[in-house]
Amino acid sequence: MSQPEALRFEVTAQNGEARTGLLTTRRGVIETPVFMPVGTAGTVKAIRFEELEGSDLDAKIILGNTYHLWLRPGVETIKACGGLHRFSGWNRALLTDSGGFQVWSLGNLRKISEEGTEFRSHVDGSLQFLSPEVSMEVQAALGSDIVMVFDECTAGDADHEQTEKSVGLTARWAKRSRKAFDRLQEVGADLGRTDAQELSGNQALFGIVQGAGHLDLRRSSLEQTVEIGFDGYAIGGLSVGEEKSVMFDVIGELAPQMPPDRPRYLMGVGTPEDLIEAVARGVDMFDCVLPTRNGRTGQAFTSAGKLNIKNARFAHDPRPLDESCGCLVCRRHSRAYLRHLYLAGEMLASISLTHHNLAFFLDTMRGVRQSIRSRDFPKFRREFTERLTANGEY
Ligand SMILES: [Zn+2]
Repeated sequence: MSQPEALRFEVTAQNGEARTGLLTTRRGVIETPVFMPVGTAGTVKAIRFEELEGSDLDAKIILGNTYHLWLRPGVETIKACGGLHRFSGWNRALLTDSGGFQVWSLGNLRKISEEGTEFRSHVDGSLQFLSPEVSMEVQAALGSDIVMVFDECTAGDADHEQTEKSVGLTARWAKRSRKAFDRLQEVGADLGRTDAQELSGNQALFGIVQGAGHLDLRRSSLEQTVEIGFDGYAIGGLSVGEEKSVMFDVIGELAPQMPPDRPRYLMGVGTPEDLIEAVARGVDMFDCVLPTRNGRTGQAFTSAGKLNIKNARFAHDPRPLDESCGCLVCRRHSRAYLRHLYLAGEMLASISLTHHNLAFFLDTMRGVRQSIRSRDFPKFRREFTERLTANGEY
């Protein structure tokens, strides 16, 4: 079992399956349900850490991608700088994924065996090998506060037999991840602890449940993962091409069966309405590239639905992106100005839309938490979704 001080989780209010909680990591307390901006290569694209930390956004935790950081700048660079926190200058909590999903999404460029995954680097074409042991070593060197096990993502359309094999491999890799992780903690490989700050504990390790859309295999994957024992549990392998209804069936079946006293993390999902629906089924943690990636392509998430700033109808529009948003961008800039920036190829367009989109996602989660605490979540969910879908995309 893991060290008890790595992470604490306390449920503070419940409204149906939806719940609020306090997740205490070694780098501070995080209120859940929480949205975690994705910092792929040690940076949340198009936004500075000061903005993420400011009162406008106040993101308590961000993600880092093991696969990307391992290939570039490489683990030796990050080791030499004393871990990812020191290397990047981010002082709040950090969760790293295992690299499993990234190598899986390389498709034909990778080869999966019992031992691990062989693939060609997208940076220089060199042959690389990622396994549970390598992933745990890299994540120890990164010194993240929450480490994810190395798993195999099952394709959304995999049949029962393929999925069963994949779930078995994920369980064996989870055991190997646990063993390698515990050894690395013992020998002091976690560079997060050498930080100048007084950190209260070790890294935490989360297990991942797979099983595509097959509910029996999802249940069996959950049982096997809980038996190994982790600080938190994630639902992986969703939003990879399956129908939305399948995704919500899996979450609805799985989340209430996950250990109630541990955080539940839905990986890589989703739109604002997806987050609300997953919270309603008992999920506590989310990450997704949508607010940042779509911000860079001119799409704003607003309380009235998705807005495409390229649209000619905004050419003379003096209103902010979202009239209900109080973020720094909405307080200052018009749709017409932001559209002009975007069409002129100005980088401030990406920066501004990313800022607003993150503000919208983080504010939404604040509203979710407040409504659960006041036992008003069903009303919040209904009204939020109605407003969001009233206009469609515009
Ligand atoms: Zn805004």
